[in-house]
Amino acid sequence: MILKDKVALVTGGSRGIGKAIALKLASLGANIVINYEKNQESADNVIKEVESFGVKGLALQCNVADYKSCEDMVKNIAEEFGAVDILVNNAGITRDKLILRMNDEDFSAVLDVNLKGAFNCSKHVASLMLKKKIKGKIVNISSVVGLIGNVGQANYAAAKAGLIGMTKSMAKELGGKEICINAVAPGFIETDMTKVLSEAVIEKMESAIPMKKFGKPEDVAEIVAFLSTPSSNYITGQVINCDGGMVM
Ligand code: NAP
Repeated sequence: MILKDKVALVTGGSRGIGKAIALKLASLGANIVINYEKNQESADNVIKEVESFGVKGLALQCNVADYKSCEDMVKNIAEEFGAVDILVNNAGITRDKLILRMNDEDFSAVLDVNLKGAFNCSKHVASLMLKKKIKGKIVNISSVVGLIGNVGQANYAAAKAGLIGMTKSMAKELGGKEICINAVAPGFIETDMTKVLSEAVIEKMESAIPMKKFGKPEDVAEIVAFLSTPSSNYITGQVINCDGGMVM
């Protein structure tokens, strides 16, 4: 069990990619805290699955866009588990609109959850890691859209590109303390987020992907697991695409 006795916090762990990450890290022996915003029933079910691996699980409601709530969440985890060894900043939302139709609120909401949310959690977790002298791992879930842009996603692309800049800056700041910060950039993955796409859009997207299919949440979870274990101890500040070859 390579992650035995480690503690991982996965934001947005109640569904989709976050759920797959929580289960994968639990299968490697880590105790798991998942965070969610609204979907308590789904979060509780993930915790039941997590505990079936013989590790501890805890679901905490918290809007990651709120700085103080994130500070309180990390304090709770420190009291309950003593530390956080692995943070996966996965919580994310979309508000897709063409730029001329996108209003101030659409832009801010996406930046607040996807980018500031990752800052809010990273700031408090990194501070705890330093205090406890933990050689920690932080993995940020970005997107290929942050690398190449996408029609209707100026807000989302800006947030995901910002997350890559933050990953590299934090990696430079914390590398000397052996805290590794990396990002994963998924392409199109089968979750609730992509369920809203029409058949026509899905077909068009699939034909543009060299592997001719969407990925599964588990495909992303495998990379996050690699970046969370000692197998990746000399890797920091990197972005790994998980996109069936869509961006190369
Ligand atoms: P999803 O199925 O829509 O799940 C989103 C998760 O984020 C849920 O657990 C949700 O909690 C949580 N969440 C949303 N807003 C939150 C907030 N303010 N505070 C705390 N938690 C919040 O999304 P997904 O497809 O798994 O995506 C996960 C991550 O991968 C996101 O960052 C997304 O941008 C990124 N990504 C996804 C794809 C894709 O194709 N699916 C591609 C590239 C990148 P509730 O259940 O409580 O609502």
